[in-house]
Amino acid sequence: MSEAKNYRAELTACFGNPVDENPTGIIEEAGYNALDLNYRYLTIKVDKEDLPAAVAGARAMGFRGFNLTIPHKIAVIPLLDELTVAARITGAVNTVINKDGKLTGENTDGKGFLTSLLQKGIDPKGKKITILGAGGAARAVSVELALAGASHIYIINRNEARGEELSRTICEKTGSAGEYIRWEKGIGIPEDTDIIVQATNIGLYPDVTGKPDICYDSLKPEMTACDVVFNRPDTPFLKEAEKRGLMTINGLGMLVNQAAMNFRLWTGCEAPVDIMTEALETEFGL
Ligand code: NDP
Repeated sequence: MSEAKNYRAELTACFGNPVDENPTGIIEEAGYNALDLNYRYLTIKVDKEDLPAAVAGARAMGFRGFNLTIPHKIAVIPLLDELTVAARITGAVNTVINKDGKLTGENTDGKGFLTSLLQKGIDPKGKKITILGAGGAARAVSVELALAGASHIYIINRNEARGEELSRTICEKTGSAGEYIRWEKGIGIPEDTDIIVQATNIGLYPDVTGKPDICYDSLKPEMTACDVVFNRPDTPFLKEAEKRGLMTINGLGMLVNQAAMNFRLWTGCEAPVDIMTEALETEFGL
């Protein structure tokens, strides 16, 4: 007799609002199809007040895991069973893994960024980093770079309380020194910076011409410039940096690498990163 068929799909998802333009499903499904895995990735609009019901539903239906985006990355924490170190220090979860009914919160945004840096041959160990912004992405990236051994992290942000809090977290919970600098108009980048990370939403669709208000002549060719914005590879910030001879790294690598990490955590299989990257590039017409 032939082997019994299994028509049951393993479910993964992204919960958020807004969520319609989140491209992670394209990347994950390209990976599932390439490995012929009976997995699905559903991009689901979940309002703030419905998150507890959505998480309970995912538990009840045995989802393998799910991603969280705006506005759920912090709100999801009390609904989970445990957190990884990075998620605990960052105070935000973008990925949940369901292992035999136990939900673990992880933050793969920062790890995805770190991987994209290492892939370009840049190791943050002992480096001085300047981060523009102190929101969710800035927190995830700065905590991961600090845990990877960066020696000093400057946080440049408009909102003082948010910037101070992040630099304090870095000082108290990692081995790095954190320093807050208030974002004044045309601010210069600290001259001992090795890596500068644009981690605000400036340049994000629909305002793709937006550019951070900094002194671009303070960018030096020996620095590396990175942007977390992923809707185009050549953001205005990266173009200015490139003009001044800096090596540049765009946000696509961070996006694909965090998706590849989720893939491994949910399926236990090595992610077909090249195929997943190609799917994203095709989607963005690159
Ligand atoms: P948040 O809303 O949490 O934070 C936004 C940050 O940007 C705040 O620090 C805010 O400063 C700052 N900011 C916004 N506008 C300006 C401005 N005009 N001038 C100076 N600072 C400004 O957003 P997220 O951190 O979640 O997202 C930020 C970006 O990261 C988005 O573009 C998102 O798409 C991207 N991202 C990319 C990922 C990837 O895989 N590539 C993954 C996750 C996010 P203030 O505190 O002063 O208000």
